[in-house]
Amino acid sequence: MYRIGNGYDVHRLIKGRKLILGGVDIPHNLGLDGHSDADVLCHALCDSLLGASGAGDLGKYFPDTDNKWKGVSSLVLLEKSGELVAERGFQISNIDTTIVAQQPKIGPHIESMTINISETLNIDPNQINIKATTTERLGFAGREEGIAAYAVALLQTK
Ligand code: MG
Repeated sequence: MYRIGNGYDVHRLIKGRKLILGGVDIPHNLGLDGHSDADVLCHALCDSLLGASGAGDLGKYFPDTDNKWKGVSSLVLLEKSGELVAERGFQISNIDTTIVAQQPKIGPHIESMTINISETLNIDPNQINIKATTTERLGFAGREEGIAAYAVALLQTK
């Protein structure tokens, strides 16, 4: 049996925060604001995995009112989401993601993000696809007010 899930997340770009995407610390003059490290790619990915397995969403397991998750690496949340998927009897077939950011250039960091995610979820890098796009300077991403990420996960029963 196959199950599909999608995820979407946005975080605001501000001064004085690190920009972490896919667990990679990307040099930039702005970073993403949030309760955890605000890694939008990992958050969208978690929601796609939880959605596909029928396990709810990120906020259900890792509420931003819980200080336990304050400043935590989102790779930890991703690892736990992967465990929830496995507990429900599923394995990951493939995941596909899109990062929406005007700046900085994401391309040079995609390989490192892919490795981080594959090691966190214990899957092969070729099961993971990460894409990036700008919005031609339109909207909040185009104005560099925030970064968005979309993810789709396909699961199959073990
Ligand atoms: Mg988030």
